[in-house]
Amino acid sequence: MKKIKIIETAYRDAHQSLLATRMRTRDMLPIAEKMDKVGFFSLEAWGGATFDTCIRYLNEDPWERLVELKEAVKKTPIQMLLRGQNLVGYKHYPDDVVRAFVEKSYENGVDVFRIFDALNDIRNMESSIKAAKEQGAYVQGTISYTISPFHTVKKYVEFAKRLEELECDSITIKDMAGLISPQDTYELITALKEETDLMINLHCHCTSGMTPMSYYAACQAGVDLLDTAISPLAWGASQPPTESTVAALRGTPYDTGLDLKLLSEIKRYFEEIREKYLGILDPISERIDTDVLLYQIPGGMLSNLVSQLKQQDALDRYEDVLKEMPHVRRELGYPPLVTPTSQIVGTQAVLNVLSGERYKHVTKEVKDYLKGFYGKPPAPIDQEISRKIIGDEKPIECRPADLMEPELENFKAKGKEMGIIHKEEDVLTYAIYPAIAPKFLRGECEEEKLKAPTAALSEVPPIPTAYSVNVDGETFDVKVIPTGYMEIEAVEGGAPKGPVEGGVTCSMQGMILKLKVNEGDHVNEGDVVAVLEAMKMENDIHAPTSGRVEEIFVDEGDTAGAGDTLMIIK
Ligand code: MN
Repeated sequence: MKKIKIIETAYRDAHQSLLATRMRTRDMLPIAEKMDKVGFFSLEAWGGATFDTCIRYLNEDPWERLVELKEAVKKTPIQMLLRGQNLVGYKHYPDDVVRAFVEKSYENGVDVFRIFDALNDIRNMESSIKAAKEQGAYVQGTISYTISPFHTVKKYVEFAKRLEELECDSITIKDMAGLISPQDTYELITALKEETDLMINLHCHCTSGMTPMSYYAACQAGVDLLDTAISPLAWGASQPPTESTVAALRGTPYDTGLDLKLLSEIKRYFEEIREKYLGILDPISERIDTDVLLYQIPGGMLSNLVSQLKQQDALDRYEDVLKEMPHVRRELGYPPLVTPTSQIVGTQAVLNVLSGERYKHVTKEVKDYLKGFYGKPPAPIDQEISRKIIGDEKPIECRPADLMEPELENFKAKGKEMGIIHKEEDVLTYAIYPAIAPKFLRGECEEEKLKAPTAALSEVPPIPTAYSVNVDGETFDVKVIPTGYMEIEAVEGGAPKGPVEGGVTCSMQGMILKLKVNEGDHVNEGDVVAVLEAMKMENDIHAPTSGRVEEIFVDEGDTAGAGDTLMIIK
């Protein structure tokens, strides 16, 4: 009798999809022993966005989390999600960093590496797959699943065969947005089982609502592994519930053999965790949203998009941004939407909508994408858009990382000089997140406070813009129209109040990553004067006029709000 094996995602994807990746290690450890007893194939517990969140918001060392989990989980393999050449970041790292990161991850406790590339460009996966195999790890080669005229079963099978040649141990179909239908699941898995000798794993999010049916179709097609999340952290943008899946398959040829009583004890623990984090849980991400079938937004991104729009005070444009996404995606050659392409496409869609003109503002990442630095897009790029952004520049043809010089030694030397390296892993933390790691490694980060559960603003998106106002017994219908986004508003503190002549304003909320000018410098209209990190992307801020930089109101590392005046050019 064929037993389906279960990968439990509570420690990684489930809270990444529903709780903005905020679960603390101290909330994972008390239940680890019980989780270990269940007999899961593995516990997905590390990688993805957990690394970033740990050092950015939680003041936790991700390496220590890994070591502590490994100590607490004695039998069950610990699994991580690795973004190929992007590791746990949003851009490519050179091979020496990739190799060292994989080695240290293995050494500290990762047994199973799930490795993917957002563009399914195998050249971006080779280094990490080879490094993990050399360590003796179990490697899941991953298909980033999407739907487009260019993505066919035949192409997916060809890709899987190449992953098999690289000695991957199994193939994961990574369906970030829950797009795969039961019929498509059946066809794809049947083909993969026929054409490869590997175990097949299906990883879906529930966003579209089809997923439980697709999981059953997967069983019928001979799937070997299914990803699920314990029920208090399941559904919506997360995975199907573990207990329901186990119960549904009981007594069938696909029985998982897992103990429902033990699972219900684990469930009770996570019910408390869910209560504790209720203030973060965005009701939008818990809902079934069939719009995803039109817009293809992955689970992890939906809650991010909402919080980003909230930050930009533009939640009322949510629908517009959703509608813009498929256009941007088509123009960029139908990339599957997963980190970092989900951020690249999502942020560009936000910029296109908020700035009122498509591709008026373009992130550095979109430029790099068009130049081929992320790899080969699955389909041809819209040439008109490309010309508008990068002119006649020809995209590179080689493996992007071939153009990168080794970096590890530089980071080691620089980090030591700064006094932030206390263990070898710190070099990697610094190399992957050079902008935010120093503050964390110096111990200057503070743990973000848990929000009290309140009726979240996002419960009724979009924000109503039409009101009935009662004045002295008379009712007026009032329509509130959002004001222009680029309007100048003064920053608090030393900056001028109200609109300023020559003021360079921030178009969206973010962190000042780099200041490219000093007071007194002469700049020309259009020069890049600062780089803003917003929505995990780098955005150039241009001089609106030529002139002399009179005054700068921000420092690198400062947070700036939409409309803040950053400097004055006269
Ligand atoms: Mn996922």
